[in-house]
Amino acid sequence: MSHDLFEAAKAAMAFSHSPYSKFPVGAAIRADDGKIYTGANIENLSFPQGWCAEPTAIGCMIMGGGKRIVEMAVIAEKLPLCPPCGGCRQKIAEFADKSTPIYLCDEVGVKKTMTLEQMLPGSFETDLLG
Ligand SMILES: [Zn+2]
Repeated sequence: MSHDLFEAAKAAMAFSHSPYSKFPVGAAIRADDGKIYTGANIENLSFPQGWCAEPTAIGCMIMGGGKRIVEMAVIAEKLPLCPPCGGCRQKIAEFADKSTPIYLCDEVGVKKTMTLEQMLPGSFETDLLG
């Protein structure tokens, strides 16, 4: 991963709306159109109505014209690593391939790289329906 995706994810954290958890998270996607799309977590007083940084970035990608996730970086201010939650893994799977790398970052750079397949093995797919 080039440095720009990490920097974009880190910068996205500043846009986090996380007054309840005080736990800013940022995500950045390099899409198939070559552009970088970013997102932050957006919490809500009614907790289940809030959402993670990854779907914010996915929504920006779709509205910006990107179709597929080429690579993705995730970072959280207060965690050494912030792997996407289960729901986000399914959301990412909609727009990524099994081999798509997801970079788990700390404040200085990439700490761990995992593919989507490693994160979501045996995922729900229409191929399984025969
Ligand atoms: Zn999530």
